[in-house]
Amino acid sequence: VIHLVKLNQNGKITAKCGVITDTAGSSVWWSKVTCPTCTPYIWVDDLRGFGKMMVHRDEVKSPPPRTKVMRRRSKPSA
Ligand SMILES: [Zn+2]
Repeated sequence: VIHLVKLNQNGKITAKCGVITDTAGSSVWWSKVTCPTCTPYIWVDDLRGFGKMMVHRDEVKSPPPRTKVMRRRSKPSA
């Protein structure tokens, strides 16, 4: 079983599900994770600039709506 790394302290891995394992029994890549408890979680870039953060994959699927102002450009006349 491959767990999702939550904390790495000198090769001593604490998995998302709470299991203590080693680098051979864990991964930071969710695609390699086989532990059913760790599987729904994924590391993503923290958009606030703090680095990486672990979130539930459902949260990734539904990001907050962007308030982006779309500017209409008039088509260039060819
Ligand atoms: Zn796990």
